Amino acid sequence: MKRYCTKCFKALKKNEDVCPLCHADNSQATLSDAGTVEMKKSYYKGMRHAKDTFDKGTCLEIIGGICLILGAVLLYLSFKYDSLKIRHFTPGSTEFVCSVILLTAAIVLLTLGTIWLVSYRKQKKFWTEFEKTEGLKAKTK
Ligand SMILES: [Zn+2]
Repeated sequence: MKRYCTKCFKALKKNEDVCPLCHADNSQATLSDAGTVEMKKSYYKGMRHAKDTFDKGTCLEIIGGICLILGAVLLYLSFKYDSLKIRHFTPGSTEFVCSVILLTAAIVLLTLGTIWLVSYRKQKKFWTEFEKTEGLKAKTK
């Protein structure tokens, strides 16, 4: 009878107790019902994918946020004082060009990040429902 890791549901070799993939100790219990294993496997993969999506989304939001702040600072600096100490907007300045680039990047990154995070929520909802309906109990640390 085939044995499967109780944590990540990878098929184990005959005398393998420690899972080669997630290093879980399977000496006490292993799963052997192939049907349940397949379902748990897809659940595990789905949740992992959701987590990846969340990480990527968060990463984009952080980078986007930094771009936004730097862009705003440079935009502020692109207003320069003339000899009479009056501030003038100088669109030709390096600061302004850089701020436009940074702000554009910020908008793109923040939008993408939001899309990723929305996708994460949808995925998580789907797999949580899946877990409920299939009566699976996820073992996560
Ligand atoms: Zn494992």
